[in-house]
Amino acid sequence: MRVAMTPNPILIQPHSSTEILLGWNNNERYALPYSELRFYCPCAGCVDEHTGQRTVERSSIDPEIRPTGVNLVGRYAVAITWSDRHDTGMYHYERLWELCQKQGRKLES
Ligand SMILES: [Zn+2]
Repeated sequence: MRVAMTPNPILIQPHSSTEILLGWNNNERYALPYSELRFYCPCAGCVDEHTGQRTVERSSIDPEIRPTGVNLVGRYAVAITWSDRHDTGMYHYERLWELCQKQGRKLES
């Protein structure tokens, strides 16, 4: 049995003006700040593909950033378009789960 299996998201919706709500099929729910989700964008424009270094400054992210579009990509990722027009980030489920664990706030269900 795999212990560290990544659950699948079953709910993605706004939680507040600054947080997204991610619900998972293991019945856990997390609120995650939009600014963190934007900061951890996994695209080649935000991360150096050779060094893995993040090339986006945290201070350059609008504190009022929010998604303007969220689209499922197959059954493994979510593509997010942001209010700063950045739209190249594809967040794999593993990545979203990891962000929930590290940057998210677990909600009582
Ligand atoms: Zn990006």
